[in-house]
Amino acid sequence: MTDYFKQYPNKEGFFKEYGGSFIPPDLQKEMDNITNAYHSISKSHNFISELRSIRKHFQGRPTPVYYCQNLSTKYGGRIYLKREDLNHSGAHKLNHCMGEALLAKHLGKKKLIAETGAGQHGVALATAAAYFGLECEIHMGEVDMAKEHPNVVRMKILGAEVVPVSHGLKTLKEAVDSAFESYLKDPINTIYCIGSVVGPHPFPMMVRDFQRVVGIEAQEQFYEMTGENPDHVVACVGGGSNAMGMFSGFLDLEDTLLHGVEPGGIGTKLGDHASTITFGKPGIIHGFKCYTLQDEKGEPAPVYSVASGLDYPGVGPEHSMLKDMGKVNYGVADDAETIDAFYELSRLEGIIPALESAHAVAYGLKLAKENQQQSILINLSGRGDKDIDFVVEKYGLPEDNA
Ligand SMILES: *Cc1c(COP(=O)(O)O)cnc(C)c1O
Repeated sequence: MTDYFKQYPNKEGFFKEYGGSFIPPDLQKEMDNITNAYHSISKSHNFISELRSIRKHFQGRPTPVYYCQNLSTKYGGRIYLKREDLNHSGAHKLNHCMGEALLAKHLGKKKLIAETGAGQHGVALATAAAYFGLECEIHMGEVDMAKEHPNVVRMKILGAEVVPVSHGLKTLKEAVDSAFESYLKDPINTIYCIGSVVGPHPFPMMVRDFQRVVGIEAQEQFYEMTGENPDHVVACVGGGSNAMGMFSGFLDLEDTLLHGVEPGGIGTKLGDHASTITFGKPGIIHGFKCYTLQDEKGEPAPVYSVASGLDYPGVGPEHSMLKDMGKVNYGVADDAETIDAFYELSRLEGIIPALESAHAVAYGLKLAKENQQQSILINLSGRGDKDIDFVVEKYGLPEDNA
């Protein structure tokens, strides 16, 4: 399996036909610098031992694998969770943000720059910046800032500068442009940090490598608990970082089926979902090639999901390749199934999941019903504190205590 990780991506950042780097030459030069630095620094003893220590003492890793007795009794199957909700700051995102920030430190950078849509990446990066004593500049559309006010406050408390983006639709796309512009003004002292396994090379590779810890831990923990490997591994897919981290620990196991779960939203019409792999086709978006949802003009299509962390019209190039190879099965959970799963996990196990993660739980419960004798390991990518007000306001409590 080490072969797989040596083979993909290739030197130019391609996962078969996907990935690569389709960006202006000035930006390409900076990406090449980051690639070269990553290849040498990430293999150094200092880098590896510092990251290991951070994961243990700051992030609280390894996160546990937990057997859901109550859910398993109700649905059948043997249902397990990898508890990334217990990773510091409440989700898997800090795994790659700490890696990116540590790389920045080794490169002598002073400032981290990123854009954020829902604010989760911004908060994780601001956390990493505070740890390393780096400056942090987060670009965010004004529409998103109003919608995600608590995350804006969190970033500011952590010491980040939040730059409001007020042109165009004032959402993620404009924030990306604004962040790149700021980065290119001073690429010597700053570094651009992408929040998932997307964007131009080397980010899909780098973010996957930083997330691999999830899958490596989970495979070892599950084997230690049960004496076998799981029959099914399930993770939600937005850009695809938590899923790629999880799957990377199981890709070489012939008998373990991998399931990526996309947000089905409220229907199959373009604009009603964000199921990029399920309904999209290959194209170029934000500087790399992947499955994308596009309108008739070839522009990124509007997307929708109840979970703001999943509504992206592209997906990681590695997922695109794994889809074509048939290595991973990509399915869908819609909003209604997701809200049901959100309450089921809360009520039966005492764990409130992030709405993103609840997509994976919903799909896992379906698998459990259909495979009564089998084991299902679900990556619980984050905790749901951020979602509780929204869920209760929009969907109400379940009938028994509304
Ligand atoms: C951001 C986020 C996701 C989606 O991102 P991926 O890169 O697809 O993992 C999933 N779960 C949680 C909790 C998130 O915050």
